[in-house]
Amino acid sequence: MPEGEPTGKPPSATSLWREARNAAARARLEKSLPAVFPLPVLRHALSRPLVPPTPRLAVESYWRHHILRADRLARALAAASGQPEGWTWRLGTWTPEDRRLDKRRRGKAVEDLSETALAEKGLAFSFRMPPAPFREGPFARGKGHCCICGQPVYRFGWHRDLWGTGTPNRNAAWHAACVIAWKFWIAPADHVKELKRRQGHRCAQSGKRLLKTAEVDHRVPLYRIWREERARPWPELLGYWGLPNLQVVNRAIHADKCAAEAGERASVRRRAAGPGTGDPAAGME
Ligand SMILES: [Zn+2]
Repeated sequence: MPEGEPTGKPPSATSLWREARNAAARARLEKSLPAVFPLPVLRHALSRPLVPPTPRLAVESYWRHHILRADRLARALAAASGQPEGWTWRLGTWTPEDRRLDKRRRGKAVEDLSETALAEKGLAFSFRMPPAPFREGPFARGKGHCCICGQPVYRFGWHRDLWGTGTPNRNAAWHAACVIAWKFWIAPADHVKELKRRQGHRCAQSGKRLLKTAEVDHRVPLYRIWREERARPWPELLGYWGLPNLQVVNRAIHADKCAAEAGERASVRRRAAGPGTGDPAAGME
């Protein structure tokens, strides 16, 4: 029990357990802590109800609890890398169904298929996934570089060389912050709480109080990014998955918006239904 806490009751078994556990975790953390370590991460770690016992876990916990900061940082790091020369946003054509077939057929048609697979290595199959050039074979920057943003990764998945080693950590392929940002980009609805808080619990469309059933929405829907914005420079594109394009709205308003978007897509499809117009995104949900 922390000193000076006014209490008439003896500490519960749980709090005794937590005290002992945290004392051990703090000791372990301090022992493995290098002389240089990001101070905000250390402060965060020591204030957790359950103290992370290693520097690496402390870094992960820090970003997990600062999702929006991770989103901002990952996009800033991507902007520092810029769009790789010769890269354009493409989607894989090789469907997951083909993949399953390939597994069954392995050995037979493997030559052809692996060629397709090679050409499309790292490509997502849906425009709902953020484009990630450095995950694609030809643009990968190799060991010690983050496959999300392309920048060097240092100790504990940190993004800056606080230790002055001059070389990235060759075992790392992600920044701790970029992992968290990626999870946020592909499933922003999991973070509705943070987003609601940021909006002061007001619906971004109506200004009314957000209800429990409020939903996360992409202001500009992702199908339109693919259809109309895909030639934009890559680091800018990521903003459509991050905070600048996210809003929390009440469910009824979201349903109306989705219905309007579906109608708009259907009319675009009808217009495009002439022979030979192959919008790869047509019909993709
Ligand atoms: Zn990164």
